[in-house]
Amino acid sequence: MSDAHALALSVVTDPALDAAVLRSLLERSPDMIMLSEFSGAVVHVNPVGLTLLGLAALPAAGVTTAEVFTTRGLEVAGDVEAALRTVGHWQGRTELRHFGTDVGVPVALSTFVVRRSRGTPDLIATIIRDRTHGHRRDADLVAAARSALRSAAEHRALAELSGLAVSADMPSLLVAATSTAATVVGVESAAIARSVEDAGTLRFDAVTRELRPDVVIAAGTGSLSGYALAHHEATVCVDTREESRFDVSAMNLMGYRSGAAVPITTGAGQWGALIVFGTEPSVVGEGELTFLSAVAGVLSGALERVDLDRRLHRRSMHDPLTGLPNRALVYEAIDSALADENGSVALLLLDVDDFKIINDSLGHDAGDRALVRFARRLVTATRPEDMVARLGGDEFLIVCSGVEDASHAERLAAHVLTALATTSTLDGAPTPVSASMGVAVSERDSTRRELLRRADLAMYRAKDTGAGGYAVFDPDDLYDADRVRTLSVDLRGALARDELSLHYQPVVDVGTGRIVAVEALARWTHPSLGPIAPSEFVAVAERTGLTTPLGEWSLGSACRQVVQWRRFCDVSVRVNISGLQLRDPAFPARVAATLRETGALPGEVGLEITETVWLADTGRVAANLSALRDLGVALLLDDVGKGYNSLSYLERFPVFESFKIDKAYIDAVSTPRGRAVVSAIVLLAKAYDVTVVGEGVETLEQWEALAAAGCDLVQGFLLGRPADVARTTALLHEQAAGPV
Ligand code: C2E
Ligand code: CA
Ligand code: CA
Repeated sequence: MSDAHALALSVVTDPALDAAVLRSLLERSPDMIMLSEFSGAVVHVNPVGLTLLGLAALPAAGVTTAEVFTTRGLEVAGDVEAALRTVGHWQGRTELRHFGTDVGVPVALSTFVVRRSRGTPDLIATIIRDRTHGHRRDADLVAAARSALRSAAEHRALAELSGLAVSADMPSLLVAATSTAATVVGVESAAIARSVEDAGTLRFDAVTRELRPDVVIAAGTGSLSGYALAHHEATVCVDTREESRFDVSAMNLMGYRSGAAVPITTGAGQWGALIVFGTEPSVVGEGELTFLSAVAGVLSGALERVDLDRRLHRRSMHDPLTGLPNRALVYEAIDSALADENGSVALLLLDVDDFKIINDSLGHDAGDRALVRFARRLVTATRPEDMVARLGGDEFLIVCSGVEDASHAERLAAHVLTALATTSTLDGAPTPVSASMGVAVSERDSTRRELLRRADLAMYRAKDTGAGGYAVFDPDDLYDADRVRTLSVDLRGALARDELSLHYQPVVDVGTGRIVAVEALARWTHPSLGPIAPSEFVAVAERTGLTTPLGEWSLGSACRQVVQWRRFCDVSVRVNISGLQLRDPAFPARVAATLRETGALPGEVGLEITETVWLADTGRVAANLSALRDLGVALLLDDVGKGYNSLSYLERFPVFESFKIDKAYIDAVSTPRGRAVVSAIVLLAKAYDVTVVGEGVETLEQWEALAAAGCDLVQGFLLGRPADVARTTALLHEQAAGPV
C-alpha cells in the first residue's frame, strides 16, 4: 500500500506515467481505489471497488464517501478527516458498505491528499483492500487472544488456589476451589462430591449455589458424580437429554442440563470429585475440563499435604521404635483424662528392671528388640481403654481412666505385672523379665505434673523393695524424694571432701576363732541429719549417679588400709561392690588401677557382690567377673538366699571363692528346719568347692550350729561389730601379739 501511495504521489513528476498508464493501473488494481473531493463527493471508483461495493457503476446521482462506509466504518471518519487536514494522510481499518446486501465489508484503508496544479482542487485518493479473509484470521487471533487471556485468568486462579492450598485449612480451600471452578468455567454450580460410607449415596460439600438438599445423589451409575468416581475418570455430561451412561434424574431434579465431574485422588486412593453443573447444554468443553482437572490436582496435592502433616504429626506423637504414643501424646491423654469427671485417673509408671545390662552387654539392637517385645506385652496386658506410652529409654507409662479407687488401680497394676511375669523369654532372646511399677491415682485437684511425680516416687520405692513389684504412691514418698535429693547433693560433697569413713567388721575362722578378713563398711555422718544408714546412702548413690565415686572411694580406702595392716598381720579386706559397678565394662580396669596405685595385692582384696546383680545374668557381668578373678581378687557372693536362686549361679559362673549365707538363715538355725536348710546350703557349697561364710551371727548357739553344719567362716556382732580403723587396728594388733 505504501508503494501505491508513493506511486500516486509521484504521478505529477514522472513523465512516463501518462494518463493511459494511470488509467490502466486503476483498471487492473487488485485493491479498490477511490477518488473523492474534500466535499465528500466520490468522483471515481475503479472496477474492483465497484464490485466490492456491489455496484455496477457509480450512481448517476452521485455518491458520497459517507455512503460507501457502514455506520461502524464511519466511526473513524473524524480521525481520517483530521489527519488529512493536518498531515495529509491516514491509514487504518474500517468497514465498507455493500450496497446490494447492506453487509459490512472489513477493509484496510490508506487515504491521502493528492495535490494538484494550482487552481485545481486537491483530490483525496483512497486505496481500499478487502480484509474479509484477513479479518477472519483476525477473528481467530482475537479468539486466540481471548482464550490466552482466559488461560491467563485460569493460571491466576490456579496460582491463587495453590497459594491457599499451602496456607488455608481444607474446608476453606474446598470452598475456594468450587467457587473458582464455577466462575472460571462460567457455570451455575460447583461442588465437591464425596461418597457416603456404606450408604451407596454421595454427599455434596462446598456447594457454590444451593443444590436441592432433598435430592439423593446415588453412587455408581446412579449419577454423574457416581459414574466419575466409579470409573476413576473425568466425566463430562454434554446434555442430560442425550446421556446414556448414567442416571440423570438427579440433575433433572436440580434443573441442570449438563456438567462434569473430575475425580480427586490422593496417595490413599480416590477421595471425591470436583463437580460442575450448568443449566445449558455443553457447559464444559475441552479447555474447561483441563482447567477442572487442574483444580482437582491442586486439591489432591493439598489433601496429600494434610495427610503428610497428619503423618508427621502422628510421627511426632509416637515413639518410632515401639510405635507407642510418646511423652507428648500421653501428656495430652492425661490432661484430657483429668478433665473428665468420670472416675479417677491412675498412672502406672514402669521402669524395666536391669535394662541397662541388656543394652550394655548385648548391644543396642538386642536392647531395642527387647523394648519392642516388652511394649507389645504391655499393650496386651492392659485394658483396651488404657493408653500405653513410652516415655523414653526403658520407661513406660500406662494411663488408666475411669478408675474407681486406689485398690482398683492396684488390681490393674497387679494384673499387668502378672501378665508380664508369665511371658518371660520369647524366642530364646533375653527379654527384660520384669519391671518395677509406681502407681498414682488422681485426686480431686490433681495436676498432671503432680500425678507423674507421685507415680515416679512410688516407682522408686517399688525398685527399692525389689525388682518386679509395684508400689502405690504414699505421702511418705514425698518426704523420701526430698530426702533423696538432699542426701544426694550432700553425699557428693562429702565424697569430694573425704568425709566418709570405713568401719571394719571381723570375719572369723569357725575352727580357730581367728580373724582372717575384715569387711569394709562405709559410714557417713551427715552434718545435720546425723549418721545415715549405709543401705540408705548406697541406694541414694545408685539412684543419683554416685555409685562410681562411692565405690572407688571405698575400694581405695580399704586397699590403702590393708597395706598398712600388712606390716604386722596378714588380714584381707572385703569390699562391697554395687551391682551397677559390676555392670560397668570399665570396672575391672579400675580395680586393677586401684591395686596398682595403693600397692594392695590382689590376694589381700575380696569383692562382695550381692546376688541381686544376678537378676539379669549377662555376658557383660560374666566377662567382668572373669576379668576380676583373673586379676587375682577373691569374689564373694553376698546375701545368698535373700530371695534369689543364687546357687544356680555358682554352677554357671564358677568364679566365686566364697559365699555368705544371709542373716535370715542364720536367725533360723535355732529351729530344726532352719538347721537343715543351712546344712543343705553348706553341702551344696562344698560340692562347688567354695567356702561358706555365716553372716549376722549374734549368738553362741548360732555359731555352734554353723560350725556343726560345716560352715568355714563366721561374721556377726558376736564376733565383733563393725569398728573404726583405730579399734580394728588395735584388735588386729591384739591378735598378732596373741598365741597362734
Ligand atoms: P552387707 O554387705 O550385707 O553388710 C552386712 C551388714 O550386716 C552390715 O550392715 C553390718 O553392720 C550388718 N551386720 C553384721 N553383723 C551383724 C549382726 O550380727 N547382726 C545385725 N543385725 N547386723 C549385722 P551395714 O553396715 O549397715 O551395711 C548395710 C549394707 O550396706 C551392706 O550390707 C552393704 O550391702 C551396704 N554397704 C555398706 N558399705 C558399703 C560400701 O562401701 N559399698 C557398697 N556398695 N555397699 C556398702
Ligand atoms: Ca557385704
Ligand atoms: Ca550381706
